[in-house]
Amino acid sequence: MADKIVGKSRYSRNITLRIIGEEGQKTLRKKTVSIVGLGAIGTVVAELLSRLGVNLILIDNDKIDISNLQRQLIYNENDIGKYKTDAACKKLKKINSEIKIKKYRKTLTKNNLNILDSDLILDCTDNLKARFLINEYCLLTKMPWIHAAAIKTHGVLCNFTPADSEKPCFACIYKKNSDIETCEDSGVFNGITVLVATLQATQALKMLLNYKIMEDFLRIDIWNENIERLKVKKDTNCKICQMDTITQRVEIGDFTLKLCKTKAAYSVKPFRNVRLNLNQIKNVYTPIIETPLLLIVKIKGYEVIVHNYGELIFKDLKNEVIIKQIAKDVYSLGDSSKLKIKQKH
Ligand SMILES: [Zn+2]
Repeated sequence: MADKIVGKSRYSRNITLRIIGEEGQKTLRKKTVSIVGLGAIGTVVAELLSRLGVNLILIDNDKIDISNLQRQLIYNENDIGKYKTDAACKKLKKINSEIKIKKYRKTLTKNNLNILDSDLILDCTDNLKARFLINEYCLLTKMPWIHAAAIKTHGVLCNFTPADSEKPCFACIYKKNSDIETCEDSGVFNGITVLVATLQATQALKMLLNYKIMEDFLRIDIWNENIERLKVKKDTNCKICQMDTITQRVEIGDFTLKLCKTKAAYSVKPFRNVRLNLNQIKNVYTPIIETPLLLIVKIKGYEVIVHNYGELIFKDLKNEVIIKQIAKDVYSLGDSSKLKIKQKH
Protein backbone atom coordinates (compact mmCIF):
# COMPACT_ATOMS: atom_id res chain seq x y z
CA MET A 1 0.00 0.00 0.00
CA ALA A 2 1.26 3.44 -0.88
CA ASP A 3 1.87 5.75 2.07
CA LYS A 4 -1.13 8.05 2.47
CA ILE A 5 0.95 10.98 3.75
CA VAL A 6 1.56 12.95 0.56
CA GLY A 7 4.94 14.21 1.72
CA LYS A 8 6.25 10.67 1.96
CA SER A 9 4.31 8.73 -0.63
CA ARG A 10 6.00 7.31 -3.72
CA TYR A 11 4.41 9.84 -6.07
CA SER A 12 4.32 12.87 -3.73
CA ARG A 13 6.68 14.90 -5.93
CA ASN A 14 4.47 14.20 -8.95
CA ILE A 15 1.32 15.08 -7.04
CA THR A 16 2.67 18.40 -5.82
CA LEU A 17 3.92 19.17 -9.33
CA ARG A 18 1.17 21.21 -10.97
CA ILE A 19 1.50 19.61 -14.43
CA ILE A 20 0.72 16.15 -12.99
CA GLY A 21 -1.22 16.59 -9.73
CA GLU A 22 -3.41 13.98 -8.04
CA GLU A 23 -5.71 13.39 -11.02
CA GLY A 24 -2.78 13.17 -13.42
CA GLN A 25 -1.09 10.63 -11.18
CA LYS A 26 -4.25 8.48 -11.12
CA THR A 27 -4.35 8.67 -14.92
CA LEU A 28 -0.69 7.66 -15.25
CA ARG A 29 -1.24 4.58 -13.08
CA LYS A 30 -3.90 3.38 -15.55
CA LYS A 31 -1.81 3.93 -18.69
CA THR A 32 0.38 1.42 -20.52
CA VAL A 33 3.23 2.41 -22.82
CA SER A 34 5.01 0.06 -25.24
CA ILE A 35 8.76 0.55 -25.52
CA VAL A 36 10.23 -0.97 -28.66
CA GLY A 37 13.97 -1.44 -28.19
CA LEU A 38 15.74 -1.55 -24.83
CA GLY A 39 18.96 0.17 -25.84
CA ALA A 40 20.39 3.55 -24.91
CA ILE A 41 17.11 5.46 -25.33
CA GLY A 42 14.66 2.69 -24.38
CA THR A 43 16.26 1.84 -21.05
CA VAL A 44 16.32 5.45 -19.89
CA VAL A 45 12.77 6.19 -20.97
CA ALA A 46 11.60 2.92 -19.35
CA GLU A 47 13.18 3.91 -16.07
CA LEU A 48 11.70 7.42 -16.13
CA LEU A 49 8.19 6.11 -16.92
CA SER A 50 8.38 3.32 -14.34
CA ARG A 51 9.28 5.85 -11.66
CA LEU A 52 6.30 7.97 -12.78
CA GLY A 53 4.01 4.97 -12.22
CA VAL A 54 3.25 4.08 -15.85
CA ASN A 55 2.68 0.39 -16.80
CA LEU A 56 5.04 -0.90 -19.48
CA ILE A 57 5.31 -3.33 -22.37
CA LEU A 58 8.97 -4.03 -23.17
CA ILE A 59 9.99 -5.42 -26.56
CA ASP A 60 13.53 -6.44 -27.53
CA ASN A 61 15.20 -9.57 -28.85
CA ASP A 62 18.85 -8.80 -28.02
CA LYS A 63 21.27 -9.87 -25.35
CA ILE A 64 23.44 -7.43 -23.43
CA ASP A 65 26.93 -6.96 -24.82
CA ILE A 66 29.86 -5.23 -23.11
CA SER A 67 29.75 -2.47 -25.76
CA ASN A 68 26.22 -1.57 -24.53
CA LEU A 69 27.39 -0.52 -21.05
CA GLN A 70 28.83 2.77 -22.36
CA ARG A 71 25.28 4.19 -22.69
CA GLN A 72 22.56 1.69 -21.67
CA LEU A 73 22.25 2.94 -18.12
CA ILE A 74 20.09 0.22 -16.61
CA TYR A 75 22.57 -2.63 -17.25
CA ASN A 76 25.86 -3.45 -15.53
CA GLU A 77 28.69 -5.97 -15.99
CA ASN A 78 26.72 -8.75 -14.29
CA ASP A 79 24.07 -8.49 -17.01
CA ILE A 80 26.36 -9.27 -19.96
CA GLY A 81 24.94 -12.20 -21.94
CA LYS A 82 21.43 -11.87 -20.44
CA TYR A 83 18.40 -10.92 -22.50
CA LYS A 84 17.68 -7.19 -22.32
CA THR A 85 13.98 -7.77 -21.62
CA ASP A 86 14.80 -10.00 -18.62
CA ALA A 87 17.48 -7.76 -17.12
CA ALA A 88 15.51 -4.53 -17.65
CA CYS A 89 12.27 -6.00 -16.30
CA LYS A 90 14.02 -7.23 -13.14
CA LYS A 91 15.59 -3.81 -12.46
CA LEU A 92 12.38 -1.89 -13.19
CA LYS A 93 10.39 -4.17 -10.86
CA LYS A 94 12.88 -3.33 -8.10
CA ILE A 95 12.36 0.37 -8.79
CA ASN A 96 8.56 0.18 -8.83
CA SER A 97 6.83 -3.07 -7.89
CA GLU A 98 3.40 -1.41 -8.25
CA ILE A 99 3.46 -1.14 -12.04
CA LYS A 100 2.56 -3.91 -14.48
CA ILE A 101 5.32 -4.90 -16.90
CA LYS A 102 4.86 -7.26 -19.85
CA LYS A 103 7.98 -8.31 -21.72
CA TYR A 104 8.34 -9.79 -25.20
CA ARG A 105 11.65 -11.26 -26.29
CA LYS A 106 10.79 -10.71 -29.94
CA THR A 107 11.74 -8.81 -33.05
CA LEU A 108 8.74 -6.89 -34.43
CA THR A 109 7.29 -8.45 -37.57
CA LYS A 110 4.09 -7.97 -39.56
CA ASN A 111 2.64 -10.98 -37.73
CA ASN A 112 3.19 -9.93 -34.12
CA LEU A 113 2.24 -6.24 -34.15
CA ASN A 114 -0.62 -7.06 -31.75
CA ILE A 115 1.91 -7.07 -28.90
CA LEU A 116 2.04 -3.26 -29.27
CA ASP A 117 -1.50 -2.91 -27.93
CA SER A 118 -1.26 -0.09 -25.36
CA ASP A 119 -2.01 3.63 -24.95
CA LEU A 120 1.18 4.86 -26.62
CA ILE A 121 4.16 3.38 -28.46
CA LEU A 122 7.71 4.65 -28.08
CA ASP A 123 10.12 3.94 -30.90
CA CYS A 124 13.49 3.34 -29.25
CA THR A 125 14.76 1.04 -31.98
CA ASP A 126 17.81 1.46 -34.15
CA ASN A 127 16.31 0.46 -37.49
CA LEU A 128 13.92 1.75 -40.14
CA LYS A 129 12.19 -1.59 -40.67
CA ALA A 130 10.76 -1.59 -37.14
CA ARG A 131 9.77 2.07 -37.50
CA PHE A 132 7.81 1.41 -40.71
CA LEU A 133 6.05 -1.49 -38.97
CA ILE A 134 5.13 0.71 -35.98
CA ASN A 135 3.92 3.38 -38.43
CA GLU A 136 1.73 0.87 -40.26
CA TYR A 137 0.24 -0.54 -37.06
CA CYS A 138 -0.47 2.93 -35.68
CA LEU A 139 -2.15 4.07 -38.92
CA LEU A 140 -4.45 1.05 -38.68
CA THR A 141 -5.25 1.38 -34.98
CA LYS A 142 -4.97 5.22 -34.80
CA MET A 143 -2.53 4.87 -31.91
CA PRO A 144 -0.09 7.69 -31.21
CA TRP A 145 3.65 7.02 -31.19
CA ILE A 146 6.91 8.88 -30.69
CA HIS A 147 9.94 8.42 -32.91
CA ALA A 148 13.34 8.97 -31.28
CA ALA A 149 16.86 8.30 -32.47
CA ALA A 150 20.46 9.31 -31.77
CA ILE A 151 23.80 8.94 -33.53
CA LYS A 152 27.19 10.53 -32.85
CA THR A 153 26.22 13.75 -31.03
CA HIS A 154 22.90 14.24 -32.88
CA GLY A 155 19.39 13.31 -31.84
CA VAL A 156 15.90 13.53 -33.37
CA LEU A 157 12.41 13.34 -31.97
CA CYS A 158 8.98 13.46 -33.61
CA ASN A 159 5.42 12.77 -32.40
CA PHE A 160 2.97 10.96 -34.68
CA THR A 161 -0.79 11.15 -34.10
CA PRO A 162 -2.54 9.11 -36.81
CA ALA A 163 -6.01 9.79 -35.33
CA ASP A 164 -5.60 13.22 -36.95
CA SER A 165 -5.66 12.49 -40.68
CA GLU A 166 -4.18 15.92 -41.47
CA LYS A 167 -0.92 15.03 -39.74
CA PRO A 168 2.00 13.34 -41.54
CA CYS A 169 2.95 9.72 -40.96
CA PHE A 170 6.52 8.41 -40.63
CA ALA A 171 6.58 7.48 -44.34
CA CYS A 172 5.70 11.07 -45.28
CA ILE A 173 9.09 12.06 -43.82
CA TYR A 174 11.37 9.04 -44.24
CA LYS A 175 11.60 6.86 -47.32
CA LYS A 176 12.09 3.09 -47.06
CA ASN A 177 15.52 3.29 -48.66
CA SER A 178 16.67 6.24 -46.51
CA ASP A 179 20.27 5.84 -45.43
CA ILE A 180 20.67 5.77 -41.70
CA GLU A 181 23.99 5.53 -39.94
CA THR A 182 24.46 2.94 -37.23
CA CYS A 183 26.14 3.61 -33.89
CA GLU A 184 28.30 0.58 -34.57
CA ASP A 185 29.88 2.41 -37.52
CA SER A 186 29.68 6.04 -36.38
CA GLY A 187 29.65 5.88 -32.59
CA VAL A 188 27.26 7.64 -30.25
CA PHE A 189 27.79 9.93 -27.28
CA ASN A 190 25.89 8.83 -24.18
CA GLY A 191 24.85 12.40 -23.35
CA ILE A 192 22.72 12.68 -26.49
CA THR A 193 20.93 9.34 -25.96
CA VAL A 194 19.98 10.36 -22.41
CA LEU A 195 18.84 13.80 -23.62
CA VAL A 196 16.66 12.30 -26.39
CA ALA A 197 15.21 9.75 -23.95
CA THR A 198 14.32 12.54 -21.52
CA LEU A 199 12.62 14.52 -24.30
CA GLN A 200 10.74 11.42 -25.41
CA ALA A 201 9.55 10.70 -21.85
CA THR A 202 8.37 14.31 -21.58
CA GLN A 203 6.33 14.11 -24.80
CA ALA A 204 4.96 10.74 -23.60
CA LEU A 205 3.85 12.32 -20.33
CA LYS A 206 2.12 15.11 -22.23
CA MET A 207 0.32 12.64 -24.51
CA LEU A 208 -0.79 10.43 -21.61
CA LEU A 209 -2.16 13.43 -19.71
CA ASN A 210 -3.78 14.92 -22.80
CA TYR A 211 -1.64 18.04 -23.03
CA LYS A 212 -0.92 19.71 -26.35
CA ILE A 213 2.18 18.07 -27.79
CA MET A 214 5.03 19.29 -29.96
CA GLU A 215 4.11 19.28 -33.66
CA ASP A 216 7.57 19.90 -35.10
CA PHE A 217 10.39 17.53 -35.92
CA LEU A 218 13.08 18.23 -33.34
CA ARG A 219 16.77 17.94 -34.29
CA ILE A 220 19.47 18.47 -31.69
CA ASP A 221 23.24 18.59 -31.85
CA ILE A 222 24.37 18.44 -28.23
CA TRP A 223 28.02 19.14 -29.10
CA ASN A 224 27.29 22.46 -30.77
CA GLU A 225 24.36 23.30 -28.46
CA ASN A 226 22.16 23.49 -31.53
CA ILE A 227 18.39 22.85 -31.41
CA GLU A 228 16.28 23.02 -34.58
CA ARG A 229 12.49 22.72 -34.84
CA LEU A 230 11.51 21.71 -38.36
CA LYS A 231 7.96 21.93 -39.70
CA VAL A 232 6.71 18.63 -41.06
CA LYS A 233 3.72 18.14 -43.28
CA LYS A 234 1.78 15.39 -44.95
CA ASP A 235 3.21 14.13 -48.24
CA THR A 236 0.23 14.09 -50.58
CA ASN A 237 1.93 11.30 -52.52
CA CYS A 238 2.74 9.19 -49.47
CA LYS A 239 2.27 5.55 -50.41
CA ILE A 240 1.42 4.53 -46.86
CA CYS A 241 -1.07 7.00 -45.37
CA GLN A 242 -2.76 8.70 -48.28
CA MET A 243 -6.35 7.77 -48.79
CA ASP A 244 -6.71 7.34 -52.49
CA THR A 245 -8.89 5.51 -54.99
CA ILE A 246 -12.32 4.29 -54.00
CA THR A 247 -14.66 5.91 -51.59
CA GLN A 248 -17.93 4.13 -52.01
CA ARG A 249 -21.20 4.73 -50.20
CA VAL A 250 -22.66 1.72 -48.46
CA GLU A 251 -26.16 1.71 -46.99
CA ILE A 252 -26.61 -0.66 -44.07
CA GLY A 253 -29.98 -0.40 -42.36
CA ASP A 254 -30.18 3.10 -40.96
CA PHE A 255 -26.49 3.74 -41.39
CA THR A 256 -24.73 5.33 -44.31
CA LEU A 257 -21.12 4.22 -44.47
CA LYS A 258 -18.20 4.85 -46.75
CA LEU A 259 -15.87 2.19 -48.03
CA CYS A 260 -12.32 3.51 -48.27
CA LYS A 261 -9.21 1.98 -49.70
CA THR A 262 -5.77 3.09 -48.62
CA LYS A 263 -2.47 1.61 -49.68
CA ALA A 264 -2.36 -0.15 -46.31
CA ALA A 265 -5.90 -1.48 -45.90
CA TYR A 266 -9.62 -1.25 -46.58
CA SER A 267 -11.82 0.45 -44.05
CA VAL A 268 -15.50 1.12 -43.59
CA LYS A 269 -16.58 4.14 -41.62
CA PRO A 270 -19.75 6.10 -40.96
CA PHE A 271 -20.07 9.64 -42.31
CA ARG A 272 -20.46 10.78 -38.73
CA ASN A 273 -19.12 9.07 -35.63
CA VAL A 274 -21.46 6.58 -34.02
CA ARG A 275 -21.07 4.59 -30.83
CA LEU A 276 -20.79 0.92 -31.65
CA ASN A 277 -21.75 -1.36 -28.80
CA LEU A 278 -18.47 -3.23 -28.34
CA ASN A 279 -19.91 -5.42 -25.56
CA GLN A 280 -22.57 -6.78 -27.88
CA ILE A 281 -20.00 -7.37 -30.62
CA LYS A 282 -17.64 -9.28 -28.37
CA ASN A 283 -20.47 -11.56 -27.21
CA VAL A 284 -20.68 -12.85 -30.75
CA TYR A 285 -17.07 -12.61 -31.94
CA THR A 286 -14.37 -13.56 -29.45
CA PRO A 287 -11.86 -10.70 -29.41
CA ILE A 288 -8.17 -11.33 -30.05
CA ILE A 289 -7.52 -7.97 -28.42
CA GLU A 290 -9.85 -5.68 -26.55
CA THR A 291 -9.43 -2.21 -25.14
CA PRO A 292 -12.19 0.20 -24.05
CA LEU A 293 -11.95 1.87 -27.47
CA LEU A 294 -11.46 -0.98 -29.92
CA LEU A 295 -11.72 -4.70 -30.51
CA ILE A 296 -9.74 -6.89 -32.86
CA VAL A 297 -11.98 -9.82 -33.81
CA LYS A 298 -11.95 -12.61 -36.39
CA ILE A 299 -15.01 -12.57 -38.63
CA LYS A 300 -15.41 -15.07 -41.47
CA GLY A 301 -11.75 -15.92 -40.87
CA TYR A 302 -10.50 -12.34 -41.33
CA GLU A 303 -9.04 -10.02 -38.70
CA VAL A 304 -11.16 -6.90 -38.28
CA ILE A 305 -10.34 -3.91 -36.11
CA VAL A 306 -13.58 -2.47 -34.72
CA HIS A 307 -13.34 1.06 -33.34
CA ASN A 308 -16.07 2.23 -30.97
CA TYR A 309 -16.55 5.36 -33.13
CA GLY A 310 -17.68 3.12 -35.96
CA GLU A 311 -14.65 2.55 -38.16
CA LEU A 312 -13.88 -1.03 -39.21
CA ILE A 313 -10.43 -1.78 -40.61
CA PHE A 314 -9.68 -4.88 -42.64
CA LYS A 315 -5.98 -5.70 -42.52
CA ASP A 316 -5.71 -8.51 -45.03
CA LEU A 317 -9.11 -8.59 -46.71
CA LYS A 318 -9.44 -7.07 -50.17
CA ASN A 319 -12.76 -8.52 -51.33
CA GLU A 320 -15.27 -5.67 -51.21
CA VAL A 321 -18.28 -7.98 -51.23
CA ILE A 322 -17.10 -9.79 -48.09
CA ILE A 323 -16.09 -6.47 -46.50
CA LYS A 324 -19.63 -5.16 -46.95
CA GLN A 325 -21.13 -8.38 -45.55
CA ILE A 326 -18.92 -8.15 -42.46
CA ALA A 327 -19.78 -4.47 -42.01
CA LYS A 328 -23.47 -5.39 -42.17
CA ASP A 329 -23.01 -8.12 -39.53
CA VAL A 330 -21.10 -5.83 -37.18
CA TYR A 331 -23.41 -2.85 -37.61
CA SER A 332 -26.50 -4.98 -37.01
CA LEU A 333 -25.02 -6.04 -33.66
CA GLY A 334 -23.50 -2.79 -32.59
CA ASP A 335 -26.55 -0.75 -33.55
CA SER A 336 -27.07 1.52 -30.60
CA SER A 337 -30.67 2.64 -31.19
CA LYS A 338 -30.43 6.17 -29.76
CA LEU A 339 -27.58 7.02 -32.07
CA LYS A 340 -28.88 5.73 -35.38
CA ILE A 341 -27.80 8.08 -38.08
CA LYS A 342 -28.87 8.55 -41.63
CA GLN A 343 -26.84 11.01 -43.61
CA LYS A 344 -28.02 12.33 -46.94
CA HIS A 345 -24.64 13.32 -48.26
ZN1 LIG B 1 2.35 9.26 -44.93
